[in-house]
Amino acid sequence: MTASVDDQPAEPLLRVTDLAKRFGDREVLRDVTFEVPRGSVQVLLGPSGSGKSTLIRCLNGLETIDGGRIEFGGATVVDATGLADRHPSRRALARRARAQEDAWRPLRTRIGMVFQSYDLFPNRTVAENIRLAPLKVQHRDRDEVDADMDRLLDRVQMGDYRDAYPRELSGGQRQRVAIVRALAMRPELMLFDEITASLDPEMVRGVLEILLDLARDDMTMIVVTHEMEFARRIADTVLFLDGGVIAERAGGAEFFDHPRTDRARAFLESMA
Ligand code: ADP
Ligand code: MG
Repeated sequence: MTASVDDQPAEPLLRVTDLAKRFGDREVLRDVTFEVPRGSVQVLLGPSGSGKSTLIRCLNGLETIDGGRIEFGGATVVDATGLADRHPSRRALARRARAQEDAWRPLRTRIGMVFQSYDLFPNRTVAENIRLAPLKVQHRDRDEVDADMDRLLDRVQMGDYRDAYPRELSGGQRQRVAIVRALAMRPELMLFDEITASLDPEMVRGVLEILLDLARDDMTMIVVTHEMEFARRIADTVLFLDGGVIAERAGGAEFFDHPRTDRARAFLESMA
């Protein structure tokens, strides 16, 4: 059979190759290699301190990387493969940070992030929080932004809270707004870092349902979570991080039903 161009696997949205990250002399991530196909959900699991948040932060330019390469949408964003110097000077580090910051700038609005502590502006209403970046950063049309906002707020059952201030909302409601604020930029990739970790138990389900809904809509996502039932439901792929390396990579159900490594088994037992 002749393979046509259509048979080629589609270019992944994100490709990470041999990523390394150090804080001073401590290497907190190394040899991290994985791909995120468009429309897929990658769930990042691992013990506390294994490097999950640091990895997420490396994927939208909030951390400088010290080795490896990050490609987004088929183009190289940061190439740090040549950085063999284990003990760079302060100046070299500052130069590296500046260069990577510049490289990420054009991509900032294409990648959305929500993390544990919702950081809504306290002195702005829900609507003002959501509109800010699409209007000021993306310079989009106000009517279009508002239409997006209304649709998204309705979708997360927050349509009645446009004019509320963050202090008037519960933690779960604030996280919903934080998700909408990120989605209002029409990102191609969403990063979620333990977004239910500081919520009261009764708020957790509603927020996780939103992510399941986004997954059904083929949003490309990387999700860090401690909610194992949810992880199993949403994951196309599980990346199990331990001590800064990907110790195991498997399909969602496969990881939970047949963990291959002792470390993954111990982790799953600790979460049960
Ligand atoms: P996780 O999210 O899996 O709990 P983190 O990515 O937060 O793990 O942390 C991974 C390791 O990196 C930990 O040992 C942590 O102490 C260290 N670390 C994280 N951020 C910093 C920082 N800004 N400076 C120094 N060490 C850090
Ligand atoms: Mg973390």
